[in-house]
Amino acid sequence: MNRFPAIFNIASNKKAFVAENFVKYRNELQWNIRCSRPPNCESEWAQWSGLMKVLYEVKFRDDEDVWTWKSDENNNFSVAEIRDQIIRQSAEIEDEWRYWNRWVPPKVNLFSWRIAMGRIPVKTELIKRGVQLQNQVCCRCDAYDESVGHLVLSCTMSKSIWWNILAWVKLPVSTQFGSSKELLKQVDSWKGSKVWKKVINLILQTTIWHIWKARNEHEFKGIRVSGSKVVEEIKADSFIWLKSRSKFENINWVRWMDFNVRDIIH
Ligand SMILES: [Zn+2]
Repeated sequence: MNRFPAIFNIASNKKAFVAENFVKYRNELQWNIRCSRPPNCESEWAQWSGLMKVLYEVKFRDDEDVWTWKSDENNNFSVAEIRDQIIRQSAEIEDEWRYWNRWVPPKVNLFSWRIAMGRIPVKTELIKRGVQLQNQVCCRCDAYDESVGHLVLSCTMSKSIWWNILAWVKLPVSTQFGSSKELLKQVDSWKGSKVWKKVINLILQTTIWHIWKARNEHEFKGIRVSGSKVVEEIKADSFIWLKSRSKFENINWVRWMDFNVRDIIH
């Protein structure tokens, strides 16, 4: 279903057991995937041969089925092994994701991480995964395909939001970002203290979050949220999150609106 969606699409029995997908022919097992029709275009044939290549690497044995645990060398299962695996994996994630920011709610952190990995359900990604959509055009500009990069950075709607936000925090508006990951990494190269960078990161994450929220309002409810409204929401949410989640609980709204905070945040 995931790797060969075009074949899954034409398979007659989508819930068939493995055993129902092969036949025994003179002591040999042969794959026999029943389809409602043969593959009839280049992409279907390509997936078909890809599928067959994978399947022919599968070897059958007469042994009894057994459970094995992949991450252990001897395939043995133990609670200690799971614990070690979890520790190993979270170390990998932390390494990959240095931008976890305690001043931002976890759901927003997680979302930024997924954005940087390109793992959010924009239309081009859904289509790649075999979801049937009428089109993959960005609903906000009606001009380009909706990819992660387009949605976050290059859509005219998003661009105007970024210009406003960068100007607000007094950063060069002309800054160009190749990808969302680059955008989040950019903070490291800007001049400023660790704390200031953390505040800027909070604002970048809040911006990405609100661009996605505005996109969903439009896509699912048909509500067109203006760029200036989104900018207001970004300023308000980042203020509330900073005030309630960091040590800067005394931060003042009027000064925040001007981003005149360098003397507090340094
Ligand atoms: Zn667009």
